[in-house]
Amino acid sequence: MASSSPTKIAVIGSGLMGSALARAFAAAGHDVAVWNRTPSKAKAVGGGTRAMEDLREAVSGRELVVVSLSNYAACSELFSLEGVASALAGTTLVQLTSGSPADAREALEWAKANGVDYLDAAILAYPSFVATDAAMVFYAGSRSVFDRHLETLQAIAKNSIYVDEKIGSAATLDCAILEAYYGSSLAFLHAAAMCEAEGIDPKAFFSHKASFLGLLSVTVDAAQDMIERNDFSGDQCSLNTHVAAIEHIVRLSKDARMSARFPKELLDNYKRAISAGLGSKELPAVFRTLKQD
Ligand code: NAP
Repeated sequence: MASSSPTKIAVIGSGLMGSALARAFAAAGHDVAVWNRTPSKAKAVGGGTRAMEDLREAVSGRELVVVSLSNYAACSELFSLEGVASALAGTTLVQLTSGSPADAREALEWAKANGVDYLDAAILAYPSFVATDAAMVFYAGSRSVFDRHLETLQAIAKNSIYVDEKIGSAATLDCAILEAYYGSSLAFLHAAAMCEAEGIDPKAFFSHKASFLGLLSVTVDAAQDMIERNDFSGDQCSLNTHVAAIEHIVRLSKDARMSARFPKELLDNYKRAISAGLGSKELPAVFRTLKQD
């Protein structure tokens, strides 16, 4: 849908994500300049965007500069090139490169020192989700800067969520969701491999997806409640009993001569909670020992 008032935007980085972001802004009617280290990729973005060869020219006079690079170090490298910081002064920089909260804090310091408004953002989407209802972006930083640009930013995700003024908050939430995603993914892939090692078609396991996802969902709710109350007692299943179940998974993996690293790591974490005296508590009690190194 065309924007009522087009914004001058520069998108730095024409990788998979940067290209999708640039095309979405252009499709919403904004004036979009794109720049990429490898110029041919910027030229290939298309969709009504304009490829620029010079980074300083690409960001000069832009209201919004959106960055999507592999990491924050690449961004610092670019912004330390001669004349780039002064070309960025007065703009709003939206950092959509994934990073840690510490990266975000450093970037804010740099922005403050160079007269640049700064929003740190994290996108929860594949490039094909951009501009659809499936895309979600978290933002951290000044509320007024976010509100000023919200309408424009909604071109990439209607679900544009302001998290907090704490500049690391979007990256923290992103890391938390990604950890839950990667951890659960490794768990179900190991589970499928266990089935195959024991001569069971992984399809049999996948067909029960509703049962393990349902269990996970119930445990997430219970964990939230117990963490809030700081009380992990209950009458469902003790950590001692859970540990016995994990020991079976380790045993199966070893007997089947497949990798037992993942279940061993699980066992180690759950046992640590038992050593801390939490054996009679419910599963979410592990939260207490995870907070300590
Ligand atoms: P990508 O396709 O590999 O693109 C990486 C971009 O970074 C390219 O434009 C690359 O330029 C540039 N770059 C890397 N090092 C550089 C340097 N030292 N100096 C200048 N430019 C440099 O990666 P992507 O998938 O678009 O990801 C971009 C960001 O989006 C990442 O932070 C990623 O975590 C985040 N993200 C991606 C997804 C996804 O599904 N793809 C989802 C959520 C978040 P060249 O073309 O010159 O190499």
